[in-house]
Amino acid sequence: MQDDIIILDRLSHSYKTVGNEEIEALTDVSLRIKKGEAIAIIGANGSGKSTLAKHLNALLLPTGGSCTVCGLDVKDAKNTWNIRQQVGMVFQNPDNQIVAALVEEDVAFGPENIGIPSAEIKERVERSLSVVRMQDYRRQAPHMLSGGQKQRVAIAGVLALEPVCMVLDEVTAMLDPIGKKEVLSAVLELNKNKGITVIYITHFMQEAVLFDRVAVMDAGRLVKIGTPQEIFSQVDEITALGLEVPLAAEVSWGLAQKGVKISTVISNEELAAALCQYF
Ligand code: ADP
Ligand code: MG
Repeated sequence: MQDDIIILDRLSHSYKTVGNEEIEALTDVSLRIKKGEAIAIIGANGSGKSTLAKHLNALLLPTGGSCTVCGLDVKDAKNTWNIRQQVGMVFQNPDNQIVAALVEEDVAFGPENIGIPSAEIKERVERSLSVVRMQDYRRQAPHMLSGGQKQRVAIAGVLALEPVCMVLDEVTAMLDPIGKKEVLSAVLELNKNKGITVIYITHFMQEAVLFDRVAVMDAGRLVKIGTPQEIFSQVDEITALGLEVPLAAEVSWGLAQKGVKISTVISNEELAAALCQYF
């Protein structure tokens, strides 16, 4: 369908080690992501999340099945440039993503590389920095910023390329609680306000509940996909995959196991409302 910005059809990926051994990191992953959607991907360490992410802008190519982005097959080398214009990637460590001595230069770096005229670069830098609320830091040195601020600069750098889709791979993992919040809200805002399709890999279930859909990876396979409510109400199954569920789900499910009449809820507000009836 035209609406589907990403189509994975039985995508598989095997890495070859130096000893020529094959490690199958992704097996038969089929997934469609609609334009404008915000989707979280969760899964234990080593379940294949980053391998999947790297296919979305042709950093890795399928060894089986296919990956189509904005109608372009990633395997076709003449699509690579185009795909990388459309899909921006942000990674875990902000320090590895900052290249310039000033925040504004850092954000300008990407657009400069693709030959955007300098007047337009200025505008893009302003716009991108204001989306992530870092415009007041434009003349600062990135190494003076907090982790959350650096990560927002990294996001602005990708935004300045005006991608239709952004892939964020555990971008809050190295941040303190405030930094996590700032980055997550910047990401959700650029989905809501700019209509950018977001694929957000995370270890934090409290973050995943805020997305339209949650995809669950296990040992290279996509084992579940659904709304946060659908996914996190399967408390025993999610826990069996070595993952946590949001606190509200754990508590409501635990109470139900003990005979309390309560359905499994995923937000603290719903939990509070459900518990209030008992007081
Ligand atoms: P996740 O991001 O969910 O932690 P990864 O996609 O990084 O998972 O890894 C999936 C599997 O692929 C793991 O078993 C990992 O060890 C393996 N792997 C990842 N990158 C490489 C690589 N460059 N070479 C060989 N094996 C790799
Ligand atoms: Mg990873």
